[in-house]
Amino acid sequence: MLVVMQHGATQEQIDRVARVIEEMGYQARPMPGAQRTTVGLVGNDGRVDSSRIEALPGVGEVIHVSKPYKQVSREWKHENTLVQLAPGVVFGGREIQIIAGPCSVESERQIVAAATQVAAAGATALRGGAFKPRSSPYSFQGLGKRGLELLRLAQRETGLPIVTEALDEEGAHVVAEYADCVQIGARNMQNYSLLRAVGRIGKPVLLKRGMAATITDLLLSAEYILAEGNERVILCERGVRSFDTSTRNLLDLTAIPLVQKLSHLPMIADPSHGTGLRDKVVPMARAAVAAGADGVIVEVHPDPDRALSDGGQSLFPEQFAGLVAELRAIAQAIGREVASGSGTVGASVG
Ligand code: PEP
Ligand code: MN
Repeated sequence: MLVVMQHGATQEQIDRVARVIEEMGYQARPMPGAQRTTVGLVGNDGRVDSSRIEALPGVGEVIHVSKPYKQVSREWKHENTLVQLAPGVVFGGREIQIIAGPCSVESERQIVAAATQVAAAGATALRGGAFKPRSSPYSFQGLGKRGLELLRLAQRETGLPIVTEALDEEGAHVVAEYADCVQIGARNMQNYSLLRAVGRIGKPVLLKRGMAATITDLLLSAEYILAEGNERVILCERGVRSFDTSTRNLLDLTAIPLVQKLSHLPMIADPSHGTGLRDKVVPMARAAVAAGADGVIVEVHPDPDRALSDGGQSLFPEQFAGLVAELRAIAQAIGREVASGSGTVGASVG
């Protein structure tokens, strides 16, 4: 529920509304706006009697948010939320961000080479898993903390902010020390204690859609993070399971404009996991940007044939460089721009 104060309502009147909300057993979130202040009521289980609040001095109107997710919805907040990973790397504005790098961090040589190559090609953030959620327990599970240290090294070399996954609550605290953005993978989209934990940690979060999650499920998962006071959430379409095994997943690009209408949070696409096929990644990345995605996350490996995970869907560095050039043209055609980012390698190469 949202309490919209009248234009010119006094601070005392706003404080009183917040006090009454708290007396009723809910949390109050005052949100000052350019014209009027709004006070959000958090924790609404659908049984709130708004008549007591409507009668308070200074109250303009009370809006009941119709969606099951509240703080995530555009009804709650009209303007786009901007999520900044580093200076110049902002998701949700006019600029499109490109996160790129290998599926997994494998060695110092591999991650530094990958970071240097993607930065030079124009990536604005570096991806790479240190803790890997593999379908089989016998597959490469990632280098763990050592992987995070190598990501830090790659960041020092290139200036790129780091996006890397956390698998559990304990890992989330460790990942947050190294990463600029904590990724919650598809398999963990409904791990509610993990969502709460990253909500409390407060670092930017990349929340990927689960393989069988509806759009409502995705937005409700994001609500868990916002409910803990962390609004810095980037959503990601990464494909859903389909009856057709021709591709690894079915990349649902309609989800992009859908989510952007329902929510103020940035929405990006992952054409790598979305297709699972290297030669399909480039066209689907182009399509995602054309569909209005606020960014893409793409797997790129210095030597995909030797990759320890997802080599078959990883782009060669030259292929990625070609993609970035194409994305710049597509962005321009729809009135947007691919960000130039904060990376030092990319900046010097131009
Ligand atoms: C990943 O991005 O490395 C990953 C495992 O993706 P997803 O969670 O979408 O499968
Ligand atoms: Mn992968």
